[in-house]
Amino acid sequence: MDLKHWLGRADDTIQKWAGTFGPYEPHPSLHVDDDTFGAVFDEFTVRLRDNYPFFHPSYAGQMLKPPHPAAVVGHLTAMLINPNNHALDGGPATAAMEREAVARLAEMFGFDTHLGHLTTSGTIANLEALFVARELHPGRGVAYSSEAHYTHGRMCHVLGIEGHPVPADGQGRIDLDALEDVLRTGDVGTVVLTAGTTGLGAVDPIHTALALRDRYGVRIHVDAAYGGFFTLLAGADGPEGLPAEPWRAIAQCDSVVVDPHKHGLQPYGCGAVVFRDPEVGRFYLHDSPYTYFTSDALHLGEISLECSRAGASAAALWLTFQLLPPTPAGLGRVLAAGRRAALRWADLIDASDVLELYQRPELDIVGYFPAVEPATLTAVDAASARVLADGMAHPDPVFLSTLKADRAAFAARHPGVTADADGARILRSVLMKPESEQHVERLHDRVEQLTRSR
Ligand SMILES: *Cc1c(COP(=O)(O)O)cnc(C)c1O
Repeated sequence: MDLKHWLGRADDTIQKWAGTFGPYEPHPSLHVDDDTFGAVFDEFTVRLRDNYPFFHPSYAGQMLKPPHPAAVVGHLTAMLINPNNHALDGGPATAAMEREAVARLAEMFGFDTHLGHLTTSGTIANLEALFVARELHPGRGVAYSSEAHYTHGRMCHVLGIEGHPVPADGQGRIDLDALEDVLRTGDVGTVVLTAGTTGLGAVDPIHTALALRDRYGVRIHVDAAYGGFFTLLAGADGPEGLPAEPWRAIAQCDSVVVDPHKHGLQPYGCGAVVFRDPEVGRFYLHDSPYTYFTSDALHLGEISLECSRAGASAAALWLTFQLLPPTPAGLGRVLAAGRRAALRWADLIDASDVLELYQRPELDIVGYFPAVEPATLTAVDAASARVLADGMAHPDPVFLSTLKADRAAFAARHPGVTADADGARILRSVLMKPESEQHVERLHDRVEQLTRSR
């Protein structure tokens, strides 16, 4: 896609549409001439250089990459109108696009019925799921694994409900025996399961945990903010195929959150929450004196906690889904490449003398650390931090990230490493760009070199 061409087309199209409403004079108070703008723009672009090359395969750090050009064009085109998806009065076209895009997400997870909407982030999407959970089980708390995103503990605090962190097993998945112990107390009304932890991409055993719902009368919410689109690889042929059971089980859960701004090729500002039972919409009821005058049809603001939201986000997602739909043959191919890259790198690390795999990747996130002598947590921590810093400072840089692994988690995986500290930073690479597949040998060589040179 030629971005220059399509951004020009975006401007032409919106101007043409604007022209159908008749001429008017822009107010002089808003006037900026091109020379003045050019000078400020130069300063602005210089400042933007203080950044990391998220687009480049040498960037193998955090969950960051630029959006797909289709999403950029969709976002910018709609933004020139600037619809607000709070209400149909804020722009019917993008409200319809939001409903269609959300329906595709619900379908991807296998929901027969649904009520959902986009949000500004996974944080808000999870907040809404926990808010509904609290309304349905007042006075009861929320259980989530110690590897769940920190947002759950924080949002329990915001909602005034008790959070119950449950230990994880040696692969970073929620420990179901420990969960059941907590459920036996009767204090918990909702269990949060994570389909792809933010740290290492571990997938909780959703299919097994479902049996606990009936036994203890709890709701099950799935936080698939990061991993949700990996459901497209469930049961797939080839090395990238994932065990189908946990992903298929999402269809039976009560709610799910997925972030199109992580693995859905979107710019930031695009999360989603989907409930299986449309009746939960009643908890959002409110009576706005300002909005909802053009139609009695459902306005998205009537089923969301946020008020103003960018219609442009819905537009970008809708346009992207027309081209790269959330199907195995669409977006699934993008995720498959990153997953194969992670598996390939894990094999290279397994065969390496200088690096050790922390655990086998379940999705596209690789955790590893320098093999140090003597093997202590303190030495692992120092070596990981040094490789991270040296990689970024190198004239031909490579960008990684670190993850703090606590002492018990480390011991469960690597009992040979002496636990002389509370934990250690390990290296972590999120291979969320499909280009990583072609680059992983080179990345591995670079990280090995960085580890050797001290
Ligand atoms: C990223 C993430 C979140 C938070 O979502 P934001 O979009 O960053 O607000 C919550 N849970 C999981 C599992 C995540 O990966």
